[in-house]
Amino acid sequence: MFGAVVNLKPSEAKFFDFLGIKFRIVKNGDSPNRYIWIHGDEKTARMALEDHLDLFEGTAFFIENDEREIPFETTIIDPNRIFSRNGAYHTLRKFKPNWEIQKLNAALDYIHNEKVNLIQAIKPTKKGLLISVHNNSRGYNVYREKDKSQAVSIKSGQNPRDFIICTDKNDFEILSSGPYNVVLQNELPDKDDGSLSWEAIRLNIRYLNIETRLGYRTKQRKILEFVEKNLN
Ligand SMILES: [Zn+2]
Repeated sequence: MFGAVVNLKPSEAKFFDFLGIKFRIVKNGDSPNRYIWIHGDEKTARMALEDHLDLFEGTAFFIENDEREIPFETTIIDPNRIFSRNGAYHTLRKFKPNWEIQKLNAALDYIHNEKVNLIQAIKPTKKGLLISVHNNSRGYNVYREKDKSQAVSIKSGQNPRDFIICTDKNDFEILSSGPYNVVLQNELPDKDDGSLSWEAIRLNIRYLNIETRLGYRTKQRKILEFVEKNLN
């Protein structure tokens, strides 16, 4: 369980290029599990994941960006809305509605290729897990996911803003017997917003989103540890 921790100095760090920005790669041991922190403003999730990688094996991808959105050409886009063409279309038009059609299509093609490369890099080996970490700071909570879920397990003692989304039914059965809120999403929704979770379903990847309130680093670390110790 405890591998040699790789404390890379900045000059030795490995990076993955994506849409003109970078992900910093932190690797601890040879676990098939992969982790991703994709929203640069969700600092608690980054710290919780760094804590986790100090203790447990896996390979993590940390976005090198301070905001939720990343710069893209003359606009900005949400990097967790590009995992479908429809999602990419809407995120491209959100902050720049007036694209010329040819430039828009070229951008969509480029984003698609970058997405394929990123998936290749973050896809777990064997039957490992892909775990993303997110934070919320307003009203978003587990009840907003109910209609998109095939099963839910909401605990009375837990804050509804701290929860797990998983895409594997067997993982859900195991996790729902624990103390945390968890929902199963293993079917594509009517409206695919381009987030990584739907792409994971399409690609049959065991995916988890560990979502907590911004600032609740210990809670997020504990949920990560719970997942680590109960799923294999
Ligand atoms: Zn997020």
